[in-house]
Amino acid sequence: MEQDEKCRPARPPTAAEHRNATTDMPPLVLVEIDPLAVVVAERRDDVYVADSVRTYGEMRETCPECKGVHLKLVLRQSDVRAAHLYCAQCTRCYDARFADGTSALNF
Ligand SMILES: [Zn+2]
Repeated sequence: MEQDEKCRPARPPTAAEHRNATTDMPPLVLVEIDPLAVVVAERRDDVYVADSVRTYGEMRETCPECKGVHLKLVLRQSDVRAAHLYCAQCTRCYDARFADGTSALNF
């Protein structure tokens, strides 16, 4: 008899498994937000510069402005007021929402 594969693994999920979990999510609606509303940053020459903002990996979603550039997940931290998605190329920030308008990043 085969073992039940739905058994909870004894170890924490690996990064690859974590990525698989996000690909199961429904498509998200990206809403551009003012970076200064969510990040403590300085505007310099058309881009926003923030000193100590950590990103937490790449999302499946790509930047609507920069084709093929995947957005990075930024979680709340000392210089970040709210979780959001960030494009490293154009420095735009996006909120990700489900089709019903609720934020996908408020967890
Ligand atoms: Zn971009």
